[in-house]
Amino acid sequence: AGGDRPGSQLGELRLHGISRAYGAYTALHPLDLTVTGGEFVALLGPSGCGKTTALNCLAGLLPLTAGEIVLDGRRMDTVPPEKRGFGMVFQNYALFPHLTVRANVAFGLKMRGVGKAETTRRVDDVLRVVRLSEQAHKHPGQLSGGQQQRVAIARAIVMEPPLVLMDEPLSNLDAALRLEMRSEIRRIHQEFGLTTLYVTHDQEEALSLADRLVVLEAGRVSQIGTPAELYEHPADPHVAAFMGYRNLLALDVVSVQGARTVLGRRGVRLVGTAVGGAKATPGQEATVAIRPEDVRIAEQDEPQVARAVAEIVEYHGRVLHVEAVTSDGDRVHLRTGREVRPGDALALAVDAERALVFAAGAAADGA
Ligand code: ATP
Repeated sequence: AGGDRPGSQLGELRLHGISRAYGAYTALHPLDLTVTGGEFVALLGPSGCGKTTALNCLAGLLPLTAGEIVLDGRRMDTVPPEKRGFGMVFQNYALFPHLTVRANVAFGLKMRGVGKAETTRRVDDVLRVVRLSEQAHKHPGQLSGGQQQRVAIARAIVMEPPLVLMDEPLSNLDAALRLEMRSEIRRIHQEFGLTTLYVTHDQEEALSLADRLVVLEAGRVSQIGTPAELYEHPADPHVAAFMGYRNLLALDVVSVQGARTVLGRRGVRLVGTAVGGAKATPGQEATVAIRPEDVRIAEQDEPQVARAVAEIVEYHGRVLHVEAVTSDGDRVHLRTGREVRPGDALALAVDAERALVFAAGAAADGA
C-alpha cells in the first residue's frame, strides 16, 4: 500500500447494514451508506446518538455486531485496524511531544519503510498544504492549538489514506479557531481529493463542511441528504430542530386540504404545509416547525398566527433576535429588523409554505 499520489485513490465506501450493540443495548442500528470517492460526509447528531460508535466501527476499534464495510470493492471489516490504512483525526490528537513537527508528520512513513527522499518530498508537500512549513522545526509544545490540530491532520493525510475519519476534531479549540480550522479542513479535503467521514454534534459545522449529512438519533438514521435537502425538507421534527427550525409547536389539526393544513390551539391559528410520510388528520395533534427568520411581525391587514409579548431582545447587527411568549404560554423565536423592546405586544405572521407540519408519528419514530 502507499506510494500513490494524493487524489489517485478512489475511496468509495459502502456500508451494508453495519450495527453495533453493547450487550442488550443497540448503540447503532443497521446503517446503510455509500460514500463516493472525494466526498465529505458528516455524521451529525446529539450526544449519545451513536456517532462515535459508528466511526470506531469503521476504524476497526470496535467490532461490528453485524454488517459489512467495503472500500473500493474490498471487504474491510475483516481487516485489522492497523491494516485498513484509514487516516484518523480525533479530538485528542496525541502528538509526540519530543519530536518536531516534521518528525511527527514523517513518523508513519518511517514506520512503513518509505525511503528518505520520498518521505521528505511527501512531508514537505503536506506541511505546505496545512500551512506549517515555517513551523516544521518546532515541537508541539511551541504551537497553538490550531497548529497542533493541523499537525494531526498532516500526520493522517501524509499517508495518503483512501478514507479519513474525523471525530469532533475541532471541539478542543476556541470559537475563532474553530471557524478558521473549519475552512482549512474543507480546503485540505479538496486539495488532496480525500474521502472524509466527519463526526460532529455541531450542525453549523456539519452544514458548512459536508457534501452530505447523515443525521443520527438514538442509533438510527433520521435522514441522509445534502445540506440544502435537509434544510429545505427535514424528514422529521428532530432533523428540523437540528437544521435551525427553533420553533417546534404542538398544535391540533383543524382541517386538511392536500398539503395545506390548518392548525390551532387557543390563541394560535396558522396554516402550514404538510411534509414527511405520515398524513395529518383533523383532531390529531401535529408538530409545526418554523425557523425564527420565517416568523414576521404581521402587517395591519395580514392574518395573524398569534399574539405574543416580547420577553428577551438580543441585538445582532441589523437584526434583533426576539424571544416572545404567546397568549397561551408558547415560546416563539423570531428575527426582525424592526425596533422591538421587551414588553412590546406583537402580532405574528408566518407564510404557509414556511411552516412545516409533521403529523404525529413522524416525531416518535426512533422511540
Ligand atoms: P458523544 O457525542 O457524546 O460522544 P456519540 O453520539 O458519539 O455521543 P456514542 O459514544 O457512539 O455516542 O454512544 C452511543 C450510545 O452507546 C450511548 O448511549 C452510550 O452510552 C452507549 N455506549 C457507548 N459505549 C458503550 C460501552 N462501552 N458500553 C455500553 N454502552 C456504551
